[in-house]
Amino acid sequence: MDNGKVWGFKPNANISLDSSSTIRGILGMLMDSRDHKEERPVIPLGHGDPSSFPIFRTSQVAEDAVAEALRSANFNSYSPSIGILPARRAVADYLSRDLPYKLSPDDVFLTIGCIQAIETTLAVLARPGANILLPRPGFPLYESRAAFSNLEIRHFDLLPENNWEVDLDAVEALADENTTAIVIINPGNPCGNVFKYEHLKKIAETAKKLGILIISDEVYGHLTFGSNPFVPMGVFGSIVPVITVGSISKRWIVPGWRIGWIVITDPKGVLKETKIVDCIKGCLNISTDPATFIQAAIPKILEKTKKDFFSNILAIVEESAEICYNEIKEIDCISCPHKPEGSMFLMAKINESLLEDIIDDMDFCFKLAKEESVIILPGTLVGLKNWLRITFALDQSSAREGMGRVKAFCKRHAKQLQ
Ligand SMILES: *Cc1c(COP(=O)(O)O)cnc(C)c1O
Repeated sequence: MDNGKVWGFKPNANISLDSSSTIRGILGMLMDSRDHKEERPVIPLGHGDPSSFPIFRTSQVAEDAVAEALRSANFNSYSPSIGILPARRAVADYLSRDLPYKLSPDDVFLTIGCIQAIETTLAVLARPGANILLPRPGFPLYESRAAFSNLEIRHFDLLPENNWEVDLDAVEALADENTTAIVIINPGNPCGNVFKYEHLKKIAETAKKLGILIISDEVYGHLTFGSNPFVPMGVFGSIVPVITVGSISKRWIVPGWRIGWIVITDPKGVLKETKIVDCIKGCLNISTDPATFIQAAIPKILEKTKKDFFSNILAIVEESAEICYNEIKEIDCISCPHKPEGSMFLMAKINESLLEDIIDDMDFCFKLAKEESVIILPGTLVGLKNWLRITFALDQSSAREGMGRVKAFCKRHAKQLQ
């Protein structure tokens, strides 16, 4: 009823109301647009959560650790806002294995998955007027959270012709005195690339020259199967301060357990001196913590998981990546510039000129979902129009079936060359 009152409330304009602008939103819309919901099982090549496939069950050690922590009744209370000490120590030790120096528990802050680590880090850096450098293509949560915190976004490109390395000239051209940080995601989502040691070092040197810090998203750390080994950015922490964000969600395939970390890899103590560390603590003080019993399970999970759990998962992911990559080679209208070497994704480019009635990546993905019950994320969602982001974190028969349907779809929509 109109009572003539002008309401004093309005929604926060920094939060997008358009669900088709988020990965979750668009994947939901694609699922709804399938024509053959009953007869044809959906092949989910869109999202990065393989935990629904039985072959991706997490390790027994991890399940036992959580059950034990829960049953002990010792972890029913609130945790300190930065996380409980044994868990922070375990994360410090786990990450120190790959670093030239040793992290202390004081360098570690536990978060509700890697997502809260990202939210917190961006909030901490969002002083008025500041800007942040984000990769394109990238992980759109960074854009959403930066916008939410009024942090200006500037994009640099990852170069497909250089195995998705950072365009460092562009980074130098973009940065100014208000730039606070550059984000890298390694191993890469969405490109499936793994940065070489030398390239990481150049990124560190560029950041040092610009006086900015590096946020290194290593949520896919160790999920590599190509010739480039995983090198954490923290290795270059003495060149430039690094904030590493990560979690157990991807390597242990338990994204629903919601535990991750912010780790300061900064042996020179720059982030302490500049009060960034205090600000992280302050930010975590006014938010909530991962479930205490999950925190309590972390030492066992990180220390006791057997090597064969990881090698088994990697073998499955590698074989499915191989299937997707080889199938794409057989399809004329899409191409993948680089064989994936890590994470759970690859990017494939659509050649629209070979397609009859498909105008762009959105159109491609909606028609594909409708006709074939295959869900693929349009590249637009990760910043690259007319590309596709395909996940290969699924079992081999699903990968084969999914790519087979993509092939049939492309054939059906191919332009007839006279
Ligand atoms: C999945 C993902 C995250 C979020 O990880 P959670 O631990 O599930 O919160 C962060 N960054 C990237 C690049 C991801 O792919």
